[in-house]
Amino acid sequence: MGKLELEEIKQRVDIVELIGRYVALKPSGKGYKGRCPFHPDDTPSLYVSPEKGLWHCFGCGAGGDAIGFLMRIEHLSFREALERLAAEVGVELREEGERQRLLRVNAAAEAFFRESLRAPEGKDAREYLLSRGIGPDLWDAWGLGYAPDSGDALLSALARHGVEELLKLGLVLKGERGYRDRFRDRIIFPLRDELGRPVAFAGRALQGEPKYLNTPNTPLFTKGTLLYGLDRARERIKTAGQAVLVEGYTDVISLHAAGVTEAVSSMGTSLTESQARRLSRYAQRVIIAYDADAAGESSTLRGIGILLDAGLEVGIAVLPEGEDPDSLVRNQGLGQLRAALEGAIPFRRFLLELLPRRFDLRSLKGKEAALELVRSLWEHIRDPLIRREWAQELSLLLELPEEEVWGALKGRISWGERESEPAFGPEEVVLRFLLLGKLGQERVSQLEVGDFSPQYQRIVGLWLERWREGKGTDPRSLTLELGPEDQERLSRILLWDVNFSDENKALEDAWQRFYLVPKLEKRLAELRERMSEAEKARDLERLRELSQKYMDLCRGKVRLSGGAYGG
Ligand SMILES: [Zn+2]
Repeated sequence: MGKLELEEIKQRVDIVELIGRYVALKPSGKGYKGRCPFHPDDTPSLYVSPEKGLWHCFGCGAGGDAIGFLMRIEHLSFREALERLAAEVGVELREEGERQRLLRVNAAAEAFFRESLRAPEGKDAREYLLSRGIGPDLWDAWGLGYAPDSGDALLSALARHGVEELLKLGLVLKGERGYRDRFRDRIIFPLRDELGRPVAFAGRALQGEPKYLNTPNTPLFTKGTLLYGLDRARERIKTAGQAVLVEGYTDVISLHAAGVTEAVSSMGTSLTESQARRLSRYAQRVIIAYDADAAGESSTLRGIGILLDAGLEVGIAVLPEGEDPDSLVRNQGLGQLRAALEGAIPFRRFLLELLPRRFDLRSLKGKEAALELVRSLWEHIRDPLIRREWAQELSLLLELPEEEVWGALKGRISWGERESEPAFGPEEVVLRFLLLGKLGQERVSQLEVGDFSPQYQRIVGLWLERWREGKGTDPRSLTLELGPEDQERLSRILLWDVNFSDENKALEDAWQRFYLVPKLEKRLAELRERMSEAEKARDLERLRELSQKYMDLCRGKVRLSGGAYGG
């Protein structure tokens, strides 16, 4: 992705038109105002500035540029949002040569693993798969393979692609005795992007540890962003409006074979926010069908909060004790699994049934522990009506007055009670003038990144760097190089709805309080230090000299502090 293409896309996109597709915008000052789609908002607190190409919500703090808005509202990755905007404004993106090349190498690796599964050395792997009810037709459908034990089988088979490429893709490791295969004596599950291309691999050990080994982060793959099986399940999920979330690779394969083609796996038990957002692009509802054991129960609880935050409805399929979806189909038949999925219960009921099993609810200690557990999910529920209902249910279960339950649960932040954003102070005023290019050459040349608090240092550093190199410092070119958090800070400062009756005076005041006074105080502290040294050394001449300086500076400080900052 070239910087020029990016810049061109951002110049051509009409941010008001784009956001206007999702939010009714009304003109307000130099920009537009509307209700924020990212939090319950009746204020309206979303501001859009066509001039700066930025948006910001002063209710929930979200903000950024056009690409950031599209990513957030459509749950897209940066690249996907970019591709969509590029197509709309007619800028052609060239798929980078490297990416294509790496994808070809991974495809070659997949072919090698698949051949090895059918070769003599793949015997144990074949037997394992067959014992799980996964036959040759499924090996082909899912591209399953085997990584031989020798340690350099893949390395020599793919030598023509160059060892550097294999290293980049995490297929080989560099050890003391040279290069060797990462995956040895393992069953291989290709991990695919949504277009079905192998971007990484997971290897299950036939013996030894670790049981599962995955490709590390590579240019093609970021851990915690993919869902296993999504390439095959996404159409079905879209039609059904629902996804089934399981733990393991073989769970997904068995469920698809049994006709439950909306199953995907979080690849282990720790569902990530990124995976949940990805699911929310296709599904409205997710049924969690994790293993029926203690670990599965804990990860179900964690998963509920993450899915709720992604705006998804959550149901729980309660499996018979000790079973996972795969074993349930094998041991008790497809009917049992279907029954469990169709009988999936809302997460609130899941919790009401779980609490009496986990805690002794007759004791005060048990009630407290139960409330503590509920509280970890309470934060994720934004609908006040649902909160009310849930508090009533809990009050019955725990035999506590509803107000007490309510009080115990409200200990954390929630919408409406959210801490307000930090107020605008002299630092923000100076930063705003800097970003608008109105601080003045002389002041800018005195500034250093370290003068600002850590939250603003990346923004200021980038601005100063570009300014010194004579590059563009307008917001559009800045956001190209800032992460999402910094984009939010930038948009907040720039879209701050403020009118100074006297801009020069406002800047003068802020500059004094943010820059001059602290510098002066630092000087005074240094002087005090040197005075006490002079005193110790009984150097009266020097002490008198320093005291004089000190007095002069103090008088200067009084003058500076005289002008109160109005903002
Ligand atoms: Zn908002």
